[in-house]
Amino acid sequence: MSRATITLKPKEDLRIRWGHPWIYDNEIAKVEGQPAPGDAVDIVDARGIPVGSAFFNPASKIRCRLFSKKPREADEAFFREAITASLSWRRNFFDPEKQSLRLVFGEADGIPGLIVDSFVDASSGKRWLSAQFLALGVETRKAEILAALAAVFPSHGIIERSEAPVRAYEGLKPAVGLLAGEAPSGLVIAENGLEFAVDLLEGQKTGWFLDQRSNRAAAARHAIDPVTGKGRRVLDCFSNAGGFGLAAAKAGAISVSCVDSSAVAVASALSNAERNGLGDRVSAVDANAFDHLRNLERAHERFGLVILDPPAFAKNRASVEGAHRGYKDLNLRALKLLEPGGILVTCSCSFWFDRDLFSRTLEEAARDAGRRFRIVEERGQDHDHPIVSGYAECRYLKCLILAAE
Ligand code: SAH
Repeated sequence: MSRATITLKPKEDLRIRWGHPWIYDNEIAKVEGQPAPGDAVDIVDARGIPVGSAFFNPASKIRCRLFSKKPREADEAFFREAITASLSWRRNFFDPEKQSLRLVFGEADGIPGLIVDSFVDASSGKRWLSAQFLALGVETRKAEILAALAAVFPSHGIIERSEAPVRAYEGLKPAVGLLAGEAPSGLVIAENGLEFAVDLLEGQKTGWFLDQRSNRAAAARHAIDPVTGKGRRVLDCFSNAGGFGLAAAKAGAISVSCVDSSAVAVASALSNAERNGLGDRVSAVDANAFDHLRNLERAHERFGLVILDPPAFAKNRASVEGAHRGYKDLNLRALKLLEPGGILVTCSCSFWFDRDLFSRTLEEAARDAGRRFRIVEERGQDHDHPIVSGYAECRYLKCLILAAE
């Protein structure tokens, strides 16, 4: 069966050729053939020169998602090649046989809409995968993708966590469950020399926030005050299962207080602390971080290290202003709680709230808090969430480490 051809309007091919994989409905001049939703289509520029092949979705504003610069089918062979390439990139930085990591990061790995995280059990060495199918092109090719994963990166089971709201823009409903193999029970992963229980079916997102791995290690390097040599008091806000806080406790913090508004997250932070023999130094409270920070300020509490890792406040362009208020308020309160020389590790995972805006917001927070800071490190996402040129949307995580004067 021959593929339909989609002709772009003049100049609309340039952004695509430079690496951006999305073609919007208003960039299309004509459609030849009758592509079904999810079909692969060939994209040509206004002069008829091939641009590549893409998944077609007439229900989405992102009408086409490019998966290849050469015209081809998105068959099992395609997914094998793409997943093999993803794996090769990660081998530069990780040992995928032993380490949990994001194996496929959607468009940035050339497979639009597909996220696959790999989790390795620390004691058995068995591997499970957690997948999100966030666009129609990959939704309709689950069989080919599962076959390719089985061939390239076999696992004991694959869990589907296709719940992200973006699925609605593709005309897809949420889907959660076991896709292949068996479900893990009592899965425990290793990270930064610690062990964490991970629930692939019930945990937030795909079960564990892999993107913060190296930032947790970077934060933990400030667990001890270099001048006094004493462990710092640590406040881990939006702690989830304690990824940051426990890394700091292990590195020598005298006490770690985790805060999260999810009771499940708080319970898992506490049980993870016990699991790692850190229970005596780690506490966790189920609270709204905004209120909690205000209460700590009223109580004149002080900390040597504060971590802020909130959920994405800006989910789209329209919510950037509200997000600005949220980030400013949080950072202002956190800065006020720092001892002189104390460290703030502050994150934003909103693509829409970009690095410049985040930096400016921190400047404003410092001004209003009456605290000056020095930038210790400007960090981002780890190498298993690759950042590619031409596709700005893949670069979402900001993690700044600041020292308050
Ligand atoms: N720092 C964590 C990941 C944080 S994800 C890690 O290293 O793994 C964001 C977390 O913020 C979630 O666990 C969510 O339950 C929590 N959260 C969302 N809104 C909150 C609020 N207003 N106050 C406190 N926690 C909140």
